[in-house]
Amino acid sequence: MTDGATAQTGIETGAPRVAVVGGGLAGISAALACADAGAQVTLFEKRARLGGLTWSFTHDGLVMDNGQHVFLRCCTSYLDFLDRIGSTGDVELQERMDVTVFRSKAFPSNTAVNAVEKGVLRRDRLIAPLHLGRSLLGYGLIPFKARLRLGPAALALSRLDLDDPALDEQTFASWLARHGQSEAAVSALWDLICLPTVNLPAAEASLSMAAKVFQTGLLTEASAADIGWSRVPLGVLHGERSASALRQAGVEVRLGEPVTAIGVAGRDRGDQAGATPRYPFEVQTARGTAGAHGVVVALPHYCTEDVLPEGALPAFVRPSRLGSSPIVNVHVHFDRRVTELAFLAGLGTEAQWFFDRTASSGAGTGQYLAVSISAADSCIGTRPEDLAPQVVASLRALLPPARDAKVLGTLVTREHHATFRATPGSAVHRAPARTRIPGLVLAGAWTATGWPPTMEGAVRSGINAARAVLVRVGRRDAAPPLPKEANTVTRADLGANGWSRKPPSRQSRAGAQSRAGAQSRAGAQSRAGAQSRAGAQSRAGGKREVAEVRAGQEATASALSQLSNLEEVV
Ligand SMILES: Cc1cc2nc3c(=O)[nH]c(=O)nc-3n(C[C@H](O)[C@H](O)[C@H](O)COP(=O)(O)OP(=O)(O)OC[C@H]3O[C@@H](n4cnc5c(N)ncnc54)[C@H](O)[C@@H]3O)c2cc1C
Repeated sequence: MTDGATAQTGIETGAPRVAVVGGGLAGISAALACADAGAQVTLFEKRARLGGLTWSFTHDGLVMDNGQHVFLRCCTSYLDFLDRIGSTGDVELQERMDVTVFRSKAFPSNTAVNAVEKGVLRRDRLIAPLHLGRSLLGYGLIPFKARLRLGPAALALSRLDLDDPALDEQTFASWLARHGQSEAAVSALWDLICLPTVNLPAAEASLSMAAKVFQTGLLTEASAADIGWSRVPLGVLHGERSASALRQAGVEVRLGEPVTAIGVAGRDRGDQAGATPRYPFEVQTARGTAGAHGVVVALPHYCTEDVLPEGALPAFVRPSRLGSSPIVNVHVHFDRRVTELAFLAGLGTEAQWFFDRTASSGAGTGQYLAVSISAADSCIGTRPEDLAPQVVASLRALLPPARDAKVLGTLVTREHHATFRATPGSAVHRAPARTRIPGLVLAGAWTATGWPPTMEGAVRSGINAARAVLVRVGRRDAAPPLPKEANTVTRADLGANGWSRKPPSRQSRAGAQSRAGAQSRAGAQSRAGAQSRAGAQSRAGGKREVAEVRAGQEATASALSQLSNLEEVV
């Protein structure tokens, strides 16, 4: 314990006590960071499990997730979180962003094979923002003339100042329209990315959120948008692994214990006049109360105000006014393989994005696809017996092999409060970590992280909250560093276990497949060896990569400048 902290917090000896309310990714991150800094942490979670909005269950013998979750290489805090809980080895991360998009021309009646159009978005070895130039030029799902307008709009988007409050006063769609983007371009490109990341279409999304997504994910660092996903159920990746990491860190986890209120010393607890309370905070649950020197409230936006003491939030901040945007997942088990791709995007159908979850589900036969529908206002109320056949029809329209396949089973999962609604004007209700009551701090993907409501945002908020509370309880020196801005991660950045934040070089890719086989056979020790070799190879390949990048850079730059000229001609 350091200096003036005793007077401020009432901590006399030993470790400060920190209570964390909520066991989603935000709360888990905060709890681990506080425990790592030497605090005595108790985590209260309403449900019987950890992981919050990321969870799994078993249905008809298949282990399913409540909803497919993906992340990008730029989600550096989330990747650190996976490292911390020992889950790094269970995620897949593309070497290069590569997305196949199918569009059904005359859905749903036309099922002819030639009714499906295909587009591919794949980055090449050039630096951002040139890395997508070639792919966008050949992206046939947008008419050629409209394709030529993508580059200038992307450049303008990359130049927006994310700190400008005016960005939160308009929708992304209105900005796109002002920058010459056609309906076709919005549907086939901008919404393709905006929907799963902001969980709203461009027509509703705040420009500030969309600009953050595109700047950080696509326009600043070439590898940022490489897509990652879990190879195991989320309940294992986050829930079980977190439980064990928290246990090892000495955190007391109290599951099935919802917090009803947080009392503050000298305010609403009827403390005796003149007496110094042992703890500045009292966390109240149905089972009793627990004292704490600091509290992290990591609850969903719609119920945070229910437990906060009066006056904790600035008068104008009302997280409950953020509203919620739902996500629906339709799980379809076919009796045979219907696609060889790990995931696909669909245009013009309910099946916005779908993922092969056969291996993680433990399905012994056929192929199990999880179909994710973001911003699902229009189908959240649809009865499963109506929605599932529509989605199966969409899959059959997009995937010819699915037309003859038998459906072994379907299930619809609905998350009404999947994220807050990041519409214009939402920024004001995203509270910062510090409340108006010192020592009482906030976390959650909805808080003011600057990120959209994602796993990355949740983890960042947890780190921010831990920093704020640790400073207050006299552990400033042990507080975790501020989350890095994704694009400041250097090429040499390696994870704690040698796992590269950067995609592997060509040389290390060559060995990747045989390593993968060897890794699954060998134990943890040989895995560690293989990973450090991969790191060394990756660094060796780095120089060549830089040379290649420079060589291609000039050619692409000149192609792009010709494109700008072309736009005027067309
Ligand atoms: C279907 C779906 C798909 C998604 N897809 C993606 C994706 O692809 N990529 C991505 O990055 N993000 C995705 N997200 C968003 C991501 O899951 C969330 O942003 C993130 O998990 C939020 O974490 P959190 O800790 O802030 O909140 P939560 O996960 O909501 O955690 C809050 C916790 O508080 C608990 N709680 C509530 N009340 C109390 C109480 N009174 N006392 C104690 N505990 C309480 C809750 O039970 C919960 O465990 C998706 C979300 C859903 C639902």
